[in-house]
Amino acid sequence: MTDAGADETFFAQRAQPGIRGLRAYDPGHDLVALRARRAPDPLVELGSNENPQGASPAARAAVLDALHQLHRYPDPLGGALKRALAQRLDVAPAQLLLGNGSHELLMQFAQVFSGPGDEIVASQYGFAVYALAAQAAGATLWQAPAFARDHPMARGHDLEAIAARIGPRTKIAYLANPNNPTGTWYGAEAFAAFMARVPDTVLVVVDEAYHEYADAPDYASAQVLQAAHRNLVVTRTFSKAYALAGLRVGYAIANAGLIAVMERVRESFNVNLPGLAAAQAVLDDQPHLQWALARNVEAREALAKALRQRGWFVHRSLTNFLLVEFGAGTARVEAGLLAHGVVVRPMAGYGLPDCLRITVGEAGENRRLLAALDAL
Ligand SMILES: *Cc1c(COP(=O)(O)O)cnc(C)c1O
Repeated sequence: MTDAGADETFFAQRAQPGIRGLRAYDPGHDLVALRARRAPDPLVELGSNENPQGASPAARAAVLDALHQLHRYPDPLGGALKRALAQRLDVAPAQLLLGNGSHELLMQFAQVFSGPGDEIVASQYGFAVYALAAQAAGATLWQAPAFARDHPMARGHDLEAIAARIGPRTKIAYLANPNNPTGTWYGAEAFAAFMARVPDTVLVVVDEAYHEYADAPDYASAQVLQAAHRNLVVTRTFSKAYALAGLRVGYAIANAGLIAVMERVRESFNVNLPGLAAAQAVLDDQPHLQWALARNVEAREALAKALRQRGWFVHRSLTNFLLVEFGAGTARVEAGLLAHGVVVRPMAGYGLPDCLRITVGEAGENRRLLAALDAL
């Protein structure tokens, strides 16, 4: 028998400097264990921003078909999926990079373009992976203050504050639009002004994991500015609105030369066979996507209204989740919900111990959430 803690320390001392102080990504609760404890009653899983409507039925058919080829490696180029995406996004296939989820790509940008002595900037309350990516690469993370709680876009990205953090050592700026865990977004005009301030030696990575949900009049994808800024990268995912979280497919849209550099370190078969097939199938079923988006807006607004009526502060959201402030009793609320079989995401790790992030579920799930809150 060995002491796992002592062994971890032994090996951590041998790891690259950035890894030594690193803590692994916190996925929230151990859902497998929670499901087993709750069985046969189902959990209400509102902790991971999954799409409760599920993927297009075409995805299941594509995956079943792919099962006949399980002994084959997937296409290392992802050619068919890239061509389908390129057509939909009006870019060249060479401007696309596929990832095992966009998480993989977000990490890899930092590994490729930064190292010890370099700086990476992001926003306070920005998605947790940016800090991990910076630390793993050995770079230093600077977090710009987010908008205050009383700002109309409470706790959202303040692009001017982020731009002000950019200095001669800055290699990457990570932005999320809309952002997780806040749900907030920034407008096209503010972003154009931001890009005008950023030198083209700084890679601007805009994480658009919730792009499909974003329907505010002032929202625009960063993609529209890519022709003018070769340092601008957009990442997207099939995990959220397209509802393929279990298959792990994401992608980046960027300058073809930048993609070529990233391809040097991409694991050759990083996107698996069923994932490639299913992603292509869901892209082809836009009516299903539109249906799911419409259901989400309806359910989100109803849930936000119900929570506000109960006196809780609900942040603005253009996504499939809500950041809700429950005040001093937040930990008790979270534990109480869990006792009722309702899983949400605690936010202490983000420096928001008085908030919970709640995924918008199906109507029945949202009712169970509200009933559990009322029972507490
Ligand atoms: C969920 C999420 C991702 C990761 O998505 P995958 O493609 O499943 O890795 C990236 N960014 C944000 C902001 C997210 O919320």
